[in-house]
Amino acid sequence: TDSVDTAALTAWLREFARLIAADKQLLTDLDAAIGDADHGANMDRGMTAVLAAYEEAPPATPAELFKRTGMTLVSKVGGASGPLYGTAFLRMAAAAGEATSLGVDDLARVLRAGLDGILARGKAAVGDKTMVDALTPAADALDAAAAAGRPLPEALKATVRAAEEGRDATIPLTARKGRASYLGERSAGHQDPGATSATLLLTAAATALTG
Ligand code: ADP
Ligand code: MG
Ligand code: MG
Repeated sequence: TDSVDTAALTAWLREFARLIAADKQLLTDLDAAIGDADHGANMDRGMTAVLAAYEEAPPATPAELFKRTGMTLVSKVGGASGPLYGTAFLRMAAAAGEATSLGVDDLARVLRAGLDGILARGKAAVGDKTMVDALTPAADALDAAAAAGRPLPEALKATVRAAEEGRDATIPLTARKGRASYLGERSAGHQDPGATSATLLLTAAATALTG
């Protein structure tokens, strides 16, 4: 009952694309302060291409959905975020395996696999002021909810809350990875754009997967 099929997971990533488009200017403004002002454009270009790829050939399984998403992001988004999000989705595809629907346990495993891909690729640690700062507490919260046997809506609510706290906690930090690290201590006082877009991914899950 508490498990989500390919159609629901596709709705999740469509909702992510919608939130990215709606917050494109915010993501760009955040990146203007500590980077090169392209995070909104990068993510919107990527997710627009992802939606087009779904139209061209509707994914038939969760793994296919995540793989198509990852391959499209890798090929359409330059900069740091394309390869990082792309790797995350490709790892999520591998973690989804042959499953036709995912329960809370599976979603926790899939999110963890995505985060591990980002860590392997980008070598950031928690506290470096990156998307990892939102995704790590989110993955921890989803793991804890799965272990406690929480229903999906409650599990995702806790996951979003953890991501938001991690995102907000990037504000005082000094960046140690990516372009923002070039600013050194001048990066402090600004919210990380990638932690902000990563939080939207989880917000979209809570909206689309708990209908
Ligand atoms: P670029 O910095 O190449 O212009 P984007 O602006 O699209 O790429 O993405 C910037 C975001 O990427 C940052 O806000 C940060 O969250 C994330 N990021 C950068 N480097 C890393 C890394 N090594 N590991 C994890 N996330 C990173
Ligand atoms: Mg940028
Ligand atoms: Mg750039």
